[in-house]
Amino acid sequence: MSIYSTAQQQLASRIENQTIAVSQWKNWRWQLKNAITRVGAVEDLLGIQLDAAEKQALQQTLQKFPLSITPYYLSLIDHKEFRNDPVFRQAFPDPRELEINDCDMTDPLAEDQDSPVSGITHRYPDRVLFHISNICSMYCRHCTRKRKVGDKDTIPSRQQIQSGLDYIRQTPVIRDVLLSGGDPLMLSDDYLDWILTELRRIDHVQVIRLGTRMPVVLPYRITDDLVAMLKKHHPLWINTHFNHPREITASAREALSKLADAGIPLGNQSVLLAGVNDCPRIIKALVHKLVANRVRPYYLYQCDLSEGLAHFRTPVGKGIEIMESLIGHTSGFAVPTYVIDAPGGGGKIPLTPNYLVSLSTNKVVLRNYEGVITTYREPDHYEAKFCDRNCATCELQLQLDDVDETVATGIERLLSDCDRTISLTPANTQRMERRDDA
Ligand SMILES: *Cc1c(COP(=O)(O)O)cnc(C)c1O
Repeated sequence: MSIYSTAQQQLASRIENQTIAVSQWKNWRWQLKNAITRVGAVEDLLGIQLDAAEKQALQQTLQKFPLSITPYYLSLIDHKEFRNDPVFRQAFPDPRELEINDCDMTDPLAEDQDSPVSGITHRYPDRVLFHISNICSMYCRHCTRKRKVGDKDTIPSRQQIQSGLDYIRQTPVIRDVLLSGGDPLMLSDDYLDWILTELRRIDHVQVIRLGTRMPVVLPYRITDDLVAMLKKHHPLWINTHFNHPREITASAREALSKLADAGIPLGNQSVLLAGVNDCPRIIKALVHKLVANRVRPYYLYQCDLSEGLAHFRTPVGKGIEIMESLIGHTSGFAVPTYVIDAPGGGGKIPLTPNYLVSLSTNKVVLRNYEGVITTYREPDHYEAKFCDRNCATCELQLQLDDVDETVATGIERLLSDCDRTISLTPANTQRMERRDDA
């Protein structure tokens, strides 16, 4: 599809009751101002007709989970086949969103619990999620933060952002800050410039990342001015969120090349969604189009347990089947990591098909993507070096000023030579309580 196709021109003139120039169509503020929020407007603009009972059910859905679609994203829907359209399914409400399952949770990732100050989720040792926007240009029906969609408060004030910045400033272990939301690119260039400048002034912040769906749902937000501003704050990485190859249009490609040309490494996080992309061929087409546009597939997420997403969930086996169809079959850098974001806040857990078939003390039996079973002979002599984490006296040459982590945590700690921990035991087991009582 070209930039400003005939279908888009027709859509734009239905919105404005007159023809509009391509420059206006590509004006992101025009797109935001004209975001479609009513079912009736979607019907009119797509030229489709829903029956009264369905509209009634949709109204109820919207009371809990509102609707918003940019004209651009709406224009990608094929109105002749709209029910099965991957863009329609991601953007248009479904009464099944109101079905609540036993396993559903409002905050499955416990982001609100792992929050030391409002706006920050500090879960991993060295990096934080910083929510700098509560708004989006398009409301994804599969949003994991659905509980917050359409909340009244919009963009956090400077004072609110300051408290997040203060936390980061006072917490030297943080070397990576992930700006998220909402969509951080809903902020004006100036406001975002201020936040990035403040973050850059903190010595221990090595990397800044920004997660945005703008290249997918509103690619015109990626203006030359925006890119020139972002470029000042390197090293800056951007992760975006394409779920289907159909979303990689001429407009999206233009946005991606502006960002890549500015030296911003691009990644993509997809969510596995039933009825949208739960198919090895669709995902393969997607990752191929992404790498052709200099975007590295980063994560493929198993759909979270947030309320209202049950109809989007696939079995984990579907994700494994997709990974099986990618690993070995295509370029290594086109293969994302398939993850489940652990309910309760355990973070992302990677899942892959099994390639390790068996092992003895000197041989490993492996299988490849074709089903070939092969062996790897282990070295006859390997002198294990005792590691006391004292790198200064080690023959392996790590410059100490390159080290920023000191203690081993988690499973790494169990593997370590110099730590005597032999098991990780959950607190509050009955067995441990009995010990305490004794
Ligand atoms: C996903 C996530 C991160 C970043 O994880 P990476 O694996 O480094 O991309 C950081 N904090 C939270 C809370 C997250 O959910």
